[in-house]
Amino acid sequence: MSLTTVHTVADLRATVADWRAQGLRVALVPTMGALHDGHISLTHLAREHADRVIVSIFVNPTQFGPNEDFGAYPRTLPDDQKLLDAAGVELCFAPSVDEMYPDGFATKVSVDGAMTNVLCGASRPGHFDGVAQIVTKLLLQSLPDCAIFGQKDYQQLMVIRRFAADLNIPVDIIGAKILREEDGLAMSSRNRYLLPDERAVAPTLNRVLADITAQAAKGAALAPLLAKGREDILAAGFAPIDYLEVRDAETLELMNDTVKKPARIFVAARLGKARLIDNHAIIPGGSAA
Ligand code: AMP
Repeated sequence: MSLTTVHTVADLRATVADWRAQGLRVALVPTMGALHDGHISLTHLAREHADRVIVSIFVNPTQFGPNEDFGAYPRTLPDDQKLLDAAGVELCFAPSVDEMYPDGFATKVSVDGAMTNVLCGASRPGHFDGVAQIVTKLLLQSLPDCAIFGQKDYQQLMVIRRFAADLNIPVDIIGAKILREEDGLAMSSRNRYLLPDERAVAPTLNRVLADITAQAAKGAALAPLLAKGREDILAAGFAPIDYLEVRDAETLELMNDTVKKPARIFVAARLGKARLIDNHAIIPGGSAA
């Protein structure tokens, strides 16, 4: 079955209704396009959970701040379609902004509290409201059995789990591991913004996270590790660092001292035109993930 692309909610719903009538299980993989192997790995995971896989491609204006890269964000639909076809994805949903936000659109979806006012929620005000709004719409438009999200955007995954549970959206939210380049840089559509010399130093982010993770898992005090990590990131040419923090893997509560329960180290830092994010799991006493 080769890839079909639809641009309207009506066509999306008609295709999904046809699959449902055949008793098939459906998975959704929401993306903003400019696809790379990280996105494709989500489609493979989707395939393990479903008979039919939908990938949505939509650069959602409401999750970008006024001075962010909405205009510059790469839009590469023909290339994306080739990758999805080769990956065996059945349906690409690529709506226009007007299709998603028609005249008169007035509804917000907002997740309150500790999960959204830290990390990217603090450095990108309104970002997670935009994410919650668009993902709610995509889930209700396609009504899949499951939806796949990368741990690359770990806080986003937690926020999506929260509102899907709070709003009783009948979908399994499945997290997927981070895919990295050979030198450890987390794959990202925004890596395209990096100039060659920036690309060469970009893996520093992953290296610093891996070093801190290894030490913190053995019980080392976090403050000196984080201070040294910040120095190394700045020395590599990143500026500014939005955050370098260790937080509880479930609640995202800040950890200041040592790691005694499952945690996550998070970083966001700017390198040239790109704002890069990454994170690692810290398992106390265990091996780094
Ligand atoms: P984006 O197109 O950047 O909005 O990402 C779409 C989905 O792909 C999100 O669930 C991301 O977390 C996921 N994703 C992006 N990069 C990676 C990666 N390197 N590994 C795994 N998942 C990723």
